[in-house]
Amino acid sequence: MKIAFCSSEVVPFAKTGGMADVCGSLPLALEKLGQDIVIVLPAYSCIDRQSFGFTQIRDHVFQAIVGKNITVYLLENEKYFQRPGLYGDQNGDYSDNLERFDFYCRRTLELFKELKLRVDIIHCHDWQSALIPVYLKQKFNRDEFFKDTKTVLSLHNLAYQGVFSAEQYKKLHFGEKVFADAFEFYGKINLLKAGIIHSDCVATVSPQYAREIQTQEFGCGLEGVLQARGETIIGILNGLDYNYWDPRRESYIEYNYAPENPQHKAKNKALLQKKVKLPVNSRVPLFGFVSRLSHQKGIDLLDQIMPQLMKLDIQLVFLGVGEQIYHQMLTRWAKQYPDKVAIDLAFDEEFSHFVYAGSDFFLMPSVYEPCGLSQLISMRYGTIPVVYRVGGLVDTVIPYDQGGNGFVFIEYTPKAFLNVIKEAINIYSDSEAFSQIVAQAFKANFSWESSARQYVGLYNQCLKNL
Ligand code: ADP
Repeated sequence: MKIAFCSSEVVPFAKTGGMADVCGSLPLALEKLGQDIVIVLPAYSCIDRQSFGFTQIRDHVFQAIVGKNITVYLLENEKYFQRPGLYGDQNGDYSDNLERFDFYCRRTLELFKELKLRVDIIHCHDWQSALIPVYLKQKFNRDEFFKDTKTVLSLHNLAYQGVFSAEQYKKLHFGEKVFADAFEFYGKINLLKAGIIHSDCVATVSPQYAREIQTQEFGCGLEGVLQARGETIIGILNGLDYNYWDPRRESYIEYNYAPENPQHKAKNKALLQKKVKLPVNSRVPLFGFVSRLSHQKGIDLLDQIMPQLMKLDIQLVFLGVGEQIYHQMLTRWAKQYPDKVAIDLAFDEEFSHFVYAGSDFFLMPSVYEPCGLSQLISMRYGTIPVVYRVGGLVDTVIPYDQGGNGFVFIEYTPKAFLNVIKEAINIYSDSEAFSQIVAQAFKANFSWESSARQYVGLYNQCLKNL
């Protein structure tokens, strides 16, 4: 089967969050299963074409190979992609994001035709590539070239839908009927909504999130549209690239370690404490946090319990970048509690490995979480996740008192969150009990293999028009 991955973020080329990890690692896992993959993404200026070995194959199109034989195409457009950010800068989203990603979607389909690259499945990801199914059904529906091509749209995070003012609709040239039937969203236009309606199959990144998004609480206004597709929305858990995230042999961390010798993890902890200038002390439980800084990630809840938390013998290390109010919040905590809180307000892939490896616990009090990769990464490093019972966290973190691999709070209240942290600290002081949980975390297997097989099943279903 020939499958095209169309995503605005793909590791190792461009990343702001988990979608990039998925679009970097799932193609590799699919290739191992014998599938034939290509990837298409915008040629952002942050991508160092030379170091990745990209060569120009035609005007404004570059190509390189990843994995064994996966061709990655970069679509260049100086006006749209020659700028520092993927979607925006310190002043917010770029005002021409509609034109930017409309260009990307249209140009991708044109490129397939120019290269005579017939694909069976185009796998789109979030709103940035959601116009591809719309173009296929509305503009290329009589085009022989695409007659056997089906689309899958993956929903990585329903909070980001590509909503623009209705006045901008004329830039898309789809006409009034398509506006009314697919794009219209409370007087605006919504690219994700149009994509959901036009794609052949809809997937999301965990079974629990597939259910949640059909409710008012988590549907972000699209629950009606999603309910209409109901059972056909498939939730497949994200996997991790276990070769890349590997405490045994990766090169980022100083001291490699394996489940059999978790004592080496302690050396990483000491190094982390030293690096972030916290007291080097093996007995103090260290909680790591690596995340985009947005409301979704539960920083407000953390703020509410900070005074009580700081009365405990505990250390917190934050690595994150995002909204200004959270930069200010974290800066305030670090100033107020210099012996307990360390922050790094940056996107730093290398340092993230230090935090995952050097922490005892990983904090993830997300308000909602489509799948979440950070808890999977932390378990891979024997670092115990402390999470809210929501979305993909439900599917991946099993409470320790059920013989599981983490700590879970079930009411989204400061009290419940504080209590679960206290519980975690309590267990930490009992090294035997704690090491059992660590062993469970190490045992968890979230490699791509099983999920990639499920995707192959979904693609086959899609081709059969089920
Ligand atoms: P989301 O996609 O909502 O951002 P996920 O948990 O699915 O959250 O994925 C987050 C990914 O981004 C993980 O690989 C995490 O390590 C990485 N990440 C987030 N913030 C940073 C940061 N400041 N520096 C380095 N990596 C980060």
